[in-house]
Amino acid sequence: MPATRSALSYDVFTAPEKPFRAPPSKVGDPPAWDPTTSTLIFGDRDAVLVDPLMTVAEATALAQWVALHDRNLTTIYITHGHGDHYLGLPVVLERFPDAQVAAAPGTVQHMQQQDNFPPENSIRALFLDQVAGDVPLPEPLESREIPLEGSVIRVIETGHTDTVDTTSLHAPDLGLIVSGDVAYNHCHMYVGDTTADGRAEWIAALDQLAALNPDSVVCGHKDPTQGNPPSVLAESRGYLEYYGQLREAALSDEELFDALVDRYPDWVSRQQFLILGVG
Ligand SMILES: [Zn+2]
Repeated sequence: MPATRSALSYDVFTAPEKPFRAPPSKVGDPPAWDPTTSTLIFGDRDAVLVDPLMTVAEATALAQWVALHDRNLTTIYITHGHGDHYLGLPVVLERFPDAQVAAAPGTVQHMQQQDNFPPENSIRALFLDQVAGDVPLPEPLESREIPLEGSVIRVIETGHTDTVDTTSLHAPDLGLIVSGDVAYNHCHMYVGDTTADGRAEWIAALDQLAALNPDSVVCGHKDPTQGNPPSVLAESRGYLEYYGQLREAALSDEELFDALVDRYPDWVSRQQFLILGVG
């Protein structure tokens, strides 16, 4: 008998911005990691968690928050291979040992490569003693669909955006996209490592998501005071285009900072665009 289809809902947990170990910024805000989200999509009985966050402290709070929803956590999905979205996995799994951990094959491969990163450049060095030890690798998803109580959540492969082989999730029944780091919500973007070609690919990914005509978009990084409107897709596109113009003008860091903060005065994490080579 097919599973009974029930109406889905979603809820978003946002870990606040957090400082990390680095020399003081010459411009911009003090070194800090932008606020990061985890999304729970759930029906009457079951739930899927998207991105189990990074530090032990925030993953512990996340697991507690998931438990409050009183659903059977069937799946933990990881959108892309950046540690700020998955290093909290062992902490969440300890609380929900029966959950299956899933990611697209490209994400699993990227996570394996991160394990071999020089330690001094790794996210673990920036957050020394705050991140759990062994992180199990997800099962590479064979299909691009995650079942949830008779509905499906689709994996959208978005290619190279803020890193390689990224994905977003689309829950058509909810009109919901969980974008991972393809889109940012009133939060300066991790663009310091990008090239013109890379930004063009990133913009194409945003257009791919916009074509799904969502009602809501939850971004991997967001200003927690904001909602989840689909306008974040066009805003992220505009940011990438403007940043590209500034890069072509070969500005100093100070000039770049002034230009971006003038254009986006209320966006948070005003150092993000200057960070290079993390993860
Ligand atoms: Zn991220």
